[in-house]
Amino acid sequence: MNLTDIREIEALLTRHGFHFSKTLGQNFLIAPWVPERIARAAVPDGETQVGVVEIGPGVGCLTEQLALRAEKVLSLELDETLRPVLAETLSGRDNVEIVFGDARKVDFSAIVEEKHKGLRHVFCANLPYNVTTPILTALIEAGGFEKIVVMIQKEAARRLCAAAGTEDYSVLSALAQWRAELQVLFDVPADCFLPRPKVTSSVIELRRRAVPLVADTDEKLFFRVVRAAFAQRRKTLSNALSSTFGTAGREAVAEALDAFGMDARTRGEALGAEQFALLTKALAKRL
Ligand code: SAM
Repeated sequence: MNLTDIREIEALLTRHGFHFSKTLGQNFLIAPWVPERIARAAVPDGETQVGVVEIGPGVGCLTEQLALRAEKVLSLELDETLRPVLAETLSGRDNVEIVFGDARKVDFSAIVEEKHKGLRHVFCANLPYNVTTPILTALIEAGGFEKIVVMIQKEAARRLCAAAGTEDYSVLSALAQWRAELQVLFDVPADCFLPRPKVTSSVIELRRRAVPLVADTDEKLFFRVVRAAFAQRRKTLSNALSSTFGTAGREAVAEALDAFGMDARTRGEALGAEQFALLTKALAKRL
């Protein structure tokens, strides 16, 4: 079966009494070049021993392409009504495992260890737009994937890549840029999906940094520092951090800002990922 042929998909879904859910962000790909190109980015020619984790197989068009390239594919799907559909479309794909459940509740570090032990860990998905932020945050915090290739809304991709100090810069941009090198690979127009969404999508790659931006940064503390800085965006960095870390926070901010040559009234959103890491180190010395 051609899993991106609109007529074949419609016939398949009608046969199984399936209805698209907006809440689940169900926009299925109907252009064959898209899943092929995403899968090639996730598992380039010649790469071996790759275990891919996917979220949201839908009817399985991307899953199928990934299965042709990877050693193993584990795909998490929330919608139980897709169970019989996937049993049909992916039958015979022995290296694919579909697990039904909510991807927001998954411990990604544990799952790759359990399911893809000894393999290189890659994450790849056409992400449901409504869970983009929580899923990407969890993936970045878990840190276990050497590469993440995801299709998200073009706007969301732009926000992820936003530079410090801009309006679009967020907790997620800082965390992502600290953990990985980001590259927007290509755009996908709305007419490549069924049903057609209102916006353009982008495929973005997050390649985990081989060498950390700042050596020996306490990861957990880094995440807390970034969150504390953004929790009160209107406050100065010094005030925002002292609400979470007390005097130690205030002193670390003073030292770090001085070292960066920045003003004491600086706000958290002005700091790039590297500066946040240096600030974390200054704070670690005081806690
Ligand atoms: N991969 C397919 C494709 O590219 O055509 C479908 C992608 S569609 C944008 C998103 C998929 O994610 C749907 O199959 C939807 O049911 C599933 N989904 C939505 N929320 C989910 C969640 N919290 N956990 C797991 N799957 C979810």
